[in-house]
Amino acid sequence: MRKQIAAANWKMNCTYHQAESLLNDVLQSKISLKPHQAAVFAIPFPYLIMANSLIGSQTNCFVSAQNCHHKPSGAYTGEVSAEMIRSVSVRHCIVGHSERREYFNETNQQLAEKLDLCLKYEITPIFCCGEPLPVREEGTQNAYVEKQLRESLFHLSAEAMGRVVIAYEPIWAIGTGKTATTEQAQEIHAFIRSVIAEKFGEEAAQNLSILYGGSVKAGNAADLFGSPDVDGGLVGGASLVAADFVQIINALKS
Ligand code: PEP
Repeated sequence: MRKQIAAANWKMNCTYHQAESLLNDVLQSKISLKPHQAAVFAIPFPYLIMANSLIGSQTNCFVSAQNCHHKPSGAYTGEVSAEMIRSVSVRHCIVGHSERREYFNETNQQLAEKLDLCLKYEITPIFCCGEPLPVREEGTQNAYVEKQLRESLFHLSAEAMGRVVIAYEPIWAIGTGKTATTEQAQEIHAFIRSVIAEKFGEEAAQNLSILYGGSVKAGNAADLFGSPDVDGGLVGGASLVAADFVQIINALKS
């Protein structure tokens, strides 16, 4: 079975000590991850080293950055490079979250560059895509998402694509409490997989983990993750409550 992943996105939340106790609370709960399952914690940059040492050798738990810069290094005050992230032994990074696209004007081209840098440094990118509400209301979400995939991913080789995780996150569902229905999620995940199959081949598509993000909660995770093309979730708000995130991890397909 392809990898089933519960990824926490803490965004700009938690002080150092809050982060330490939240991560500890999750790790000390009864999470038993099977070989095809993983829990990923995308946490603020200053805590990456602390989190890696807390996780230690806990099987199938990984620390992730929430972003990296699209240039390799240089005069970009305040930015963090993929190479820096890798140098502290972090092997996952969210790329293209809708908040970065919206508030920091990140373009599909820049995201393509970020993906290249992550892959160069053997960091697994969790590439986010998803449509805003007016696009969903118009019914043109497939074309919108396909353009994001084409412009950021289609330059990759099939081997490189095999190291990418996709998170489909409809913007109208992020932090709004409005979740896509299981049917809506399954439909667009299957569409994303078909776009990847057409470009990179059926095997690449079948091995690709596609996470759903947008108001995933302890109470709806099992339903969402039960769909054949939903391989787990990228979780914001609910990942800040240890007991909720543990339930979400436990809802991954077994
Ligand atoms: C997210 O930040 O990626 C997200 C999906 O947030 P929430 O779960 O709070 O909607």
